[in-house]
Amino acid sequence: MDKVRCPICDAAMPGNRKDYPDYPFCSRRCRLVDLGRWLGEGYRVAGPSADADDRSTPGDADDPR
Ligand SMILES: [Zn+2]
Repeated sequence: MDKVRCPICDAAMPGNRKDYPDYPFCSRRCRLVDLGRWLGEGYRVAGPSADADDRSTPGDADDPR
């Protein structure tokens, strides 16, 4: 459990986590990349997710009218 790898670039992060102000990322750049992924996925999922959810729901049961 001592070996930690950056989830973004998979770089090994030897030493204490105190050495990494952006833990669990190896650098601020990777932290921003992760943040960008989250935001990007959020926007991307918003549309298709609702569509998929609507498709899986039976029309009769969920029909407001
Ligand atoms: Zn990294």
